[in-house]
Amino acid sequence: MTIYADNAATTRMSQTAIQAMLPYMDRIYGNPSSLHSVGQAAMEALTDARTRVAAALGAENPREITFTSGGSEADNQAIRSAALLGKRKGKTHIISTAFEHHAVLHTLKKLEKEGFTVTYLDVHENGLVTPEQVEAAITPETCLVTIMYANNEIGTIQPIRAIGAVCRKAGVLFHTDAVQAVGHIPVNVREDNIDLLSLSAHKFHGPKGVGVLYAKRGVILSSLIEGGAQERGKRAGTENLPGIMGMTAALEEAVAELPETMPKMTALRDRLIEGLREIPHGAVNGDLEHRLPGNVSFCFEGIEGESLLLLLDDAGVCASSGSACTSGSLDPSHVLLAIGRPHEVAHGSLRLTLDRDTSAEDVETIIRVTKDVVARLRAMSPVWRDLMAGKRNFVIA
Ligand SMILES: *Cc1c(COP(=O)(O)O)cnc(C)c1O
Repeated sequence: MTIYADNAATTRMSQTAIQAMLPYMDRIYGNPSSLHSVGQAAMEALTDARTRVAAALGAENPREITFTSGGSEADNQAIRSAALLGKRKGKTHIISTAFEHHAVLHTLKKLEKEGFTVTYLDVHENGLVTPEQVEAAITPETCLVTIMYANNEIGTIQPIRAIGAVCRKAGVLFHTDAVQAVGHIPVNVREDNIDLLSLSAHKFHGPKGVGVLYAKRGVILSSLIEGGAQERGKRAGTENLPGIMGMTAALEEAVAELPETMPKMTALRDRLIEGLREIPHGAVNGDLEHRLPGNVSFCFEGIEGESLLLLLDDAGVCASSGSACTSGSLDPSHVLLAIGRPHEVAHGSLRLTLDRDTSAEDVETIIRVTKDVVARLRAMSPVWRDLMAGKRNFVIA
């Protein structure tokens, strides 16, 4: 039997989400832009979904919701739009952090080539930025602050509401990549002082290839995709109605279940951390308190993350070394480097991300299997031999 502990990469679709999609592949298959009755039935569903998504996020108006192809597109569009608005006013400075998702970082890198300057805030050893850091970095040229709600590798949750307040006070737009947060912890765009927010359905048991860009009223989006007038002219292309309906159902379900799933997953997470801490020369990555309910992230000295994953998979545990997007590359994770892990330690990383169906028994199995696999790998490792012989110093005590 396989234990899937890679829910930060993607999740299994919930039955609720699947059932919510089916009618829109079959009975209600119209194009929402068509004027006839078949099209108008689709338009009605689309309007309903927009209203429900707005409510689930605490948005004031459904017009603030733009459907996209996922988190990456929403991040790109949010940042590009804010940058363009800034440039028109002669403001070309952006503030972010060193450990954002690549959808954010790579967009920022492109903007730097186009003449913008970006300040990447230090996220410290605990993987957190402070509102004071943001406040100190804002200049009269700043047009945007973009800081992720929760980190996809180490699970740390930023003080978003306080950062949002700092931005409001300074009159600077605030975007947050909330892809790992929405459906996992309470998120409310109004209470959290958010101007732009990205989310992705497949991270909360919805379908892949669909997401949302929330843009507060008055924040004008510019389109990445030109064509028809869908999404109020800000995102051309026939709407992915089955995906949107599945996402809406998954979002409502995840949000409604938070009071139940958060404490349950937090307890399992803490037990898993406790169990893995018995492995010598290992350390948890990221703050233990300000942390997603399902995220466990470790570095173990003297092993290779890739080999660890392969052996875990053989033993029936699906895990990750960090981000799914960087696996396959030999570079250590930029997130682990950002929290100060040296290269050789960052290579020995393990991310286990639970979901609402993970059982206490699964967690015990993961602990047992991981201890065994780490011990086996170390027994074969020349680096471990040198560490034990005192020819190299341990970085993790
Ligand atoms: C998965 C993820 C994304 C990308 O979302 P897609 O829908 O896969 O494009 C962006 N940001 C974070 C933090 C993520 O975890």
